[in-house]
Amino acid sequence: VQPAHQRLYELHDKVADFYHYYLTGTNNGASGYDYLLNRGFDEALLDTFQLGLAPDNSQVLLEYLRQNEFSDQELIDSGIFYQNDYQEWRDRFCGRLIIPLRNERGQVVAFSGRQFQAEQSPQAKYLNSPETPIFQKGELLYNLDLARPEINRTKQVLICEGYMDVMALYQAGYENVVATMGTSLTEEHLDRLTRLSREVYFIFDGDEAGQKATKRAFDLVLPRPQLVAKSVSIPQGLDPDEWLKQKGKASFDRLLEEAQSAFDFQVEYLKTHYNLHNDQELAQYIEQVTQLIAQLNSPIEQELRMKDLAEAYTVSLDLIEEQVARKRQQLN
Ligand code: ATP
Ligand code: MN
Ligand code: MN
Ligand code: MN
Repeated sequence: VQPAHQRLYELHDKVADFYHYYLTGTNNGASGYDYLLNRGFDEALLDTFQLGLAPDNSQVLLEYLRQNEFSDQELIDSGIFYQNDYQEWRDRFCGRLIIPLRNERGQVVAFSGRQFQAEQSPQAKYLNSPETPIFQKGELLYNLDLARPEINRTKQVLICEGYMDVMALYQAGYENVVATMGTSLTEEHLDRLTRLSREVYFIFDGDEAGQKATKRAFDLVLPRPQLVAKSVSIPQGLDPDEWLKQKGKASFDRLLEEAQSAFDFQVEYLKTHYNLHNDQELAQYIEQVTQLIAQLNSPIEQELRMKDLAEAYTVSLDLIEEQVARKRQQLN
């Protein structure tokens, strides 16, 4: 470990402790604390995830870090502090609830700050640390450190979008849960998961963006036969945290049991993107489905799907089989 990195880890560790204490150990933390408890999180969870609160005023943290002999350059390099136009030092997370972002070894490498008071509304809901020598956004899977033992045991991993989803699922007993932090799943994420897990569940938000993210995630996983991917579509446009809190754990278990295969998801996705009453679009749709059938590993499943398709749209089975054979050749 480079010495400069070591200093950044130490700084983040100190800052995480400070924010956590401000949330859980001071009167000023009450509003943030109440917000989290009202959202259904318990006190143990605030500790497990080391949630915090950044004071409205930047000075106390600044003094504390200077007393601990962190240099101005280190404060800037961490991305936590910046100097405004009047050369005043500012904590970029002022007034926000703090989610420490930990790497796979459990070291805090960055923060995300969430607005939680109505009067703060003009700015973005979440604000993240910028990329630094110890934080590369596209590589980090949130909560992989805590999730690892359970991923290892079950060889399954649940992947959702958000911090709140991870915390809600973890608190409900699904400890093998990680989040992409709103970005799309990356090859780096998958490289990591391929080595740890056999089955991945995409449990993205039940909105259009979440469906798109699921589609892209399946496209990425498809060339990796070591991983079996399934997806859960949360009904009513909700996200996993909201669903769990409104419908309970038994209902969430049912969603997991009913998780769709890559094939089923992709077919459903195509259906919503083509107008099947229009012959031209129907032809394109069928063509796309034959492509998906060609990608299936099991010849028996291929046969079943070809029959389904031929029957559903009264196309001759011969024609479908011909199409699939051609697509298979293109794949090889
Ligand atoms: P909450 O339940 O508190 O509203 P959420 O996780 O449901 O949070 P979403 O809007 O669904 O929030 O966003 C999903 C995830 O995307 C967030 O948890 C966060 O990791 C990331 N994200 C969202 N908005 C931003 C942003 N402005 N900057 C950086 N990351 C963001
Ligand atoms: Mn604590
Ligand atoms: Mn949410
Ligand atoms: Mn969400």
